[in-house]
Amino acid sequence: MNKIAILTSGGDSPGMNAAVRAVTRAGINFGYEVIGIRYGYRGLIEGDFVDIRSSDVSGIIQRGGTILKTARSERFMSAEGRAIAANNLKEHGVDTLIVIGGDGTFRGATVIAAEHKIRVVGIPATIDNDLIGSDETIGYDTALNTAMEAIDKIRDTADAHDRLFFIEVMGRHTGFIALETGLASGAEMIILPEEIKNIDEIKSSLSEILKVHERSTLIVVAEGDEAGGATKICGQLEKDFSKYDMRVCILGHIQRGGSPTAHDRVLASRLGYEAVKAIHEGKSEVMVGVINNECKITPLQETFGKIKKVNLDLLSMARILR
Ligand code: ATP
Repeated sequence: MNKIAILTSGGDSPGMNAAVRAVTRAGINFGYEVIGIRYGYRGLIEGDFVDIRSSDVSGIIQRGGTILKTARSERFMSAEGRAIAANNLKEHGVDTLIVIGGDGTFRGATVIAAEHKIRVVGIPATIDNDLIGSDETIGYDTALNTAMEAIDKIRDTADAHDRLFFIEVMGRHTGFIALETGLASGAEMIILPEEIKNIDEIKSSLSEILKVHERSTLIVVAEGDEAGGATKICGQLEKDFSKYDMRVCILGHIQRGGSPTAHDRVLASRLGYEAVKAIHEGKSEVMVGVINNECKITPLQETFGKIKKVNLDLLSMARILR
């Protein structure tokens, strides 16, 4: 078959459109017909298929979000849902699927490939940067810059009032965004899921910082699970630090939107092209990534099997530089 289907799935990330564009144009160049599936795995089950021509992807390289839309699908988690999805692909004459998304998307792709002999190639696109096999995922750099610009603005108002701000950024299981935005914005403290501290440790670190620090204080917190989060941490510190004017700011979905940075557009273009090349070379159940500026192929299962580690040396460095 000379058809490639493509979908975007899970949380959106800036640069997904650039990847859709690259897959479409590289695919057509390699002689494939490209079919878009709207709303991720949900659309795969519901048969929401559209033909994509080269002109359909004009003017999208600079747009955030995804023209193919995205979704999370409970039904795809069941064997019955995946059988319907595979059947829809076969009815459209497609046996090759490129999935653009994060670890959940790749887990789903791995299962449907094994169950129904669908060829799959993954393109890593998530602001969390939590996939092994690529130094960076599409959208991470844009999210970093968006969060950093927001934190810079908070610094201005915090400085004006000598306030102490807890700023929550995205990253439930991994603190890539918190670590690098904290570093880039000169935050006085960074709290990561990789280095869980109990509230007493946080209190004593903060006391140390406030002893020598006389202006505004910014604490960047990864959203964390139920044990963490900026609101909860701030609430637990209110009593002990009552002489400070403390505020919480949750950056939230602002981090997902916006025009992708040049870095993300280039990364998405490279990975879209490499994904088509991988398919052309007969590869399947792999993810394309960039490591040390070279394109690399990693078995899909290895990309989400282990937790990708943040560089904790940067955290030690941030403590010296604050
Ligand atoms: P992000 O990291 O940005 O949230 P993601 O790809 O990890 O993106 P998820 O919501 O975790 O987003 O996964 C997307 C979809 O993949 C799910 O809604 C579900 O349909 C499918 N999926 C996830 N895990 C599995 C699994 N173990 N088996 C089958 N399908 C899965």
